[in-house]
Amino acid sequence: MGLVVTDVTLGGSVVGVRCEDGRIAEIDADVAPTRGDEVVDGTGLAIVPGLINAHTHAAMTLFRGFADDLPLMEWLENHIWPAEKRLRAEDVYWGTRLACLEMIRTGTVAFWDMYWHPEAVARAAEDAGLRATVATPLIDGDDAARARADAEAALDRVEASASGRVVAGFAPHAIYTVGPESLRWVSKRAESLEATIQIHLSETRHEVEACLAEHGVRPAVHLDRAGLLGPRTIVAHGVWLDEAELDLIAERQATVVTNPVANLKLAVGGLFPYPAARERGVQVGIGTDGAGSNNSLDLFSDLKTFALMQKNAAADPAVITAGEALALGRGESSKLLRSPALVVGGLADFLLVRLRSPELALGTLDAGLVYAASGSIVDSTVVAGRVLMRGGVLEGEEEILARARECATSLGIL
Ligand SMILES: [Zn+2]
Repeated sequence: MGLVVTDVTLGGSVVGVRCEDGRIAEIDADVAPTRGDEVVDGTGLAIVPGLINAHTHAAMTLFRGFADDLPLMEWLENHIWPAEKRLRAEDVYWGTRLACLEMIRTGTVAFWDMYWHPEAVARAAEDAGLRATVATPLIDGDDAARARADAEAALDRVEASASGRVVAGFAPHAIYTVGPESLRWVSKRAESLEATIQIHLSETRHEVEACLAEHGVRPAVHLDRAGLLGPRTIVAHGVWLDEAELDLIAERQATVVTNPVANLKLAVGGLFPYPAARERGVQVGIGTDGAGSNNSLDLFSDLKTFALMQKNAAADPAVITAGEALALGRGESSKLLRSPALVVGGLADFLLVRLRSPELALGTLDAGLVYAASGSIVDSTVVAGRVLMRGGVLEGEEEILARARECATSLGIL
């Protein structure tokens, strides 16, 4: 008994796809369902790999449209941080469920998260059916030793409750909120637990100047000296990385995750130097960042924005193709992001997109997906062989919307 998608378009041919035990078992023109199989009719649909949102703060959907259009520090200090102090695990759970709802609707099959109450994030991802790397946040605050102990305890709780679909990791927030001692501690703990690390790096010019003033080196070098730059590390943003830092990141095999829409909205004044990173073989992914600063979790929108920003900055429309932007969105440029490839034996994580939608009816599929489409062209989303959305319908949508609204109301945001 498995899942069979019939008469679906793959690379110009019409095929059947059989999934068993969470993996793709067969792709062939004559794959047909047998008794007991779950069947999805793929007529008029193309099967494509799912997207990976490689940096987000899912529960911040609760802050969507709250205190917009303000400078970064005013937004954080006067609005977001005071509201976050009131957050309960229940709020994070429903905020994350709301994020998962949006990600499933718009073609994301896996996300990398960094937020408070990580065990609630993990539970929400499990219940929603998505893959997630749920990182436990660390900010030194007034008592760094206590913050480290809290982070490790939270990691243990996530690990204890997580399945293979959801895994735990560390998330020291940034080099300006976590001191060298805690950074070294994360490096050692992550090494011994073989855990991943997510950290914001080089988002603003001010961060670079402050790092140079305090430590005498640029942010990537500072991170490397703490032992944090390695193949299991994601650095989010990387807007102000210089060429020597890109060389170092390539050598250490860390992944840079660019968040083009969030960078534009918070007006960081620059963009991730993608062509220079690509030239050096830096591994790259794309994220939305949180819904407080994007405000959408529709990664198709970020793919388009990323490609257009890079073309414009290079004054060269050929600097990146639609296919390359899609590959980055599918995690194909990073070993850490574990891209779901559509091959027999691969993970059964894929999308069925509407070939009869106006955006995809004409022209090549890659160009349609990146330059014309939004996530609304996704008809069905499958993760680990389980259909999370079918024909645009998700189970439990009304309850998630109602509960998230209740949480936002109790936080005083609505
Ligand atoms: Zn972030």
